[in-house]
Amino acid sequence: MSLPSLGINQERWNRLLLKSYWVVFVLSIIVECLYLLVTDLPAEQFVSLYIVRPTIIMAFIVLLAECGVRYLPKHHDYVLISSATLLTVTVTAIHSSLEYLLFLLFFPIMISIFYFQYKKLLYAMLNTIIALICLYLADAEIRSNIPFIGLVSMLVIIIVYSGISLGILARGREVLKHLRTSYESNQELLVRTILMDKLAKTDALTDTYNHMAYHEFKDHLVEQANNGRISLHLAILDIDNFKKVNDTYGHKAGDKVLKIVASIIQSKTGSNDIVARYGGEEFAVLIAEKSFQEVYDLVEEIRKSIAITQHDAIEGLNVTVSIGLNTYMPGMGREALFQGADAALYEAKHSGKNRTMLAASMRSPRSDSVV
Ligand code: GH3
Ligand code: MG
Ligand code: MG
Repeated sequence: MSLPSLGINQERWNRLLLKSYWVVFVLSIIVECLYLLVTDLPAEQFVSLYIVRPTIIMAFIVLLAECGVRYLPKHHDYVLISSATLLTVTVTAIHSSLEYLLFLLFFPIMISIFYFQYKKLLYAMLNTIIALICLYLADAEIRSNIPFIGLVSMLVIIIVYSGISLGILARGREVLKHLRTSYESNQELLVRTILMDKLAKTDALTDTYNHMAYHEFKDHLVEQANNGRISLHLAILDIDNFKKVNDTYGHKAGDKVLKIVASIIQSKTGSNDIVARYGGEEFAVLIAEKSFQEVYDLVEEIRKSIAITQHDAIEGLNVTVSIGLNTYMPGMGREALFQGADAALYEAKHSGKNRTMLAASMRSPRSDSVV
């Protein structure tokens, strides 16, 4: 239950950063070529010093970065920050007369922001500071152009700039934390809604669907059956002589029997079937996508299984169920589906109980089976 980590799409971003390095590489060659038109230096010397040499060094650095990202995937971030530093140092060192290029040294700091991590930003800041000091110490031309106080000012600017970047990161992380919290509470709410929905649809005693849920499912399935998308059957099961069970062994014992009967029905039916407690000791089972024969065999299996189950709560005795079964015909209507099954159940009761009767419209000789 957490937001995707900050590593999300990291590979794509690494690719983008590497592409930007290639862009810097190509742009610097183009700019050098333009300088070639205005330089006072002999063309050969200029090409060798400012085009060939930097091109080779920069190509080497970018290729090194490509290899580092590919072969050191765990350290891709440090590889990219370090190579950004090397790239900027190369450009700055080659054009040491152009002191304003020193501002290119901010490049690694900007790259580090992509990683959204303080330690990467600090690493980039250190890279930049070391690169600037090294350039200053190693290059006499830079030293002659920039006084020591200028170097100190640049270091201060780098630190201030990094401080602002740290602030941006802190703000971003704060927003992220807020997003994560509201994401998590939304998830909790969703889970709670699902649980509440399940509770609202479930019968507490038998853990089958309740009357209301039955109607919801029935309406939906009838609609599908009307469109000819699925076959649909309804079986209504009523426990025989249940009042006597209650009267003899008490309501609690009756409840235990009800639970077991419900669990037998549930264990025999599949996840596509809807088992609902329609009334007190009456269950409705909606069976979709099965042929009549399969449904008939299934309800008979349920009936026989209930009939042979002995219940401890009623001194090891058995209970039986009577079943009314109806098949939905497209256009029949949901009332007719129920009425057909209910009338068949009534007949099952009046012709001896513990049997399955088919609705009048689909009656066959098999319709009055008894264990
Ligand atoms: P029949 O074979 O005709 O269905 O007879 P029956 O006694 O089962 O039917 P009747 O409608 O006369 O009685 C149903 C009984 O079911 C009465 C009621 O006490 C019992 N009953 C209904 N709901 C519950 C329940 O939640 N728990 C218990 N223990 N009994 C219940
Ligand atoms: Mg009954
Ligand atoms: Mg009843």
